[in-house]
Amino acid sequence: MRVERVFERAADLISGSRFCVALTGAGISAESGVPTFRGSNGLWKRYRPEELATPEAFFRDPELVWEFYKWRMEMVLNARPNPAHRALAELERMGILRAVITQNVDDLHREAGSRNVVELHGNIFRVRCTSCPYREDLKESGRAGEFVEETDVPRCPECGSLLRPDVVWFGEALREETIGKAFHLAQEADLMLVVGTSGVVYPAAYLPRVVKEHGGRIIEVNVEESAITPIADVFVQGKAGEVLPVLVNRVEAAKAGENLPQRE
Ligand code: NAD
Ligand code: ZN
Repeated sequence: MRVERVFERAADLISGSRFCVALTGAGISAESGVPTFRGSNGLWKRYRPEELATPEAFFRDPELVWEFYKWRMEMVLNARPNPAHRALAELERMGILRAVITQNVDDLHREAGSRNVVELHGNIFRVRCTSCPYREDLKESGRAGEFVEETDVPRCPECGSLLRPDVVWFGEALREETIGKAFHLAQEADLMLVVGTSGVVYPAAYLPRVVKEHGGRIIEVNVEESAITPIADVFVQGKAGEVLPVLVNRVEAAKAGENLPQRE
């Protein structure tokens, strides 16, 4: 399909949808300066993030894993939402997008104004104790800045055990309530916008398949083809921060047209 036709078809699907949800991955935050795991900027020191974001790595070497997470936390603390995050928030305000299901832990969807955000893999600003029920949201407590500066491994103020990031590591189960909500949204959706995900991390990667099984459509936005592309009804190749605002503008224009008084 020609580029113009691809945009037109994507915008038409969005305008006509009854229950649209988005599934986002690390690619949507790339233009905010948060590197993706896969791809050329994926390495941290000489490690692959997939080797550090595991319970085994944490219990073997908590200093190393905390150093990695504090580096990411600091990066995310300095990152701002980009036009892609803002376009999805706008689509929700317009009453078209029902929810953003994200694999990201960076909080940028909420910062952009999205309200119904399902965080499949947790949030990097939350920490929890490895042995007691202690939890803390560092953004809420206003301690994120001093937390990343502290060089010692963080310990629980209640019991002294190791604190860990409240994120879902590779090999760990997702919270049942969260994944249940995401599957429910996917079953209801007649349209899913899949943005900036390689589609190889499960169970998140099942969600577009659930949409298709229930008769819904998929629009994918990615700089390159992914594991989702073969089931996408429309594949828009490009940067999320460039593509999504164009699509949302077109949908806004179409909706404004619908509301014009009809001439006889
Ligand atoms: P991934 O790193 O596996 O894939 C990123 C995808 O984004 C790729 O398909 C790439 O082609 C695409 N992409 C890159 N730049 C893009 C852009 N500007 N516009 C559109 N697409 C772009 O990411 P994933 O699929 O989310 O899986 C990685 C896992 O790591 C997730 O579970 C996630 O929790 C975690 N992670 C999170 C963050 C974050 O919170 N920002 C960052 C890195 C990794
Ligand atoms: Zn504790």
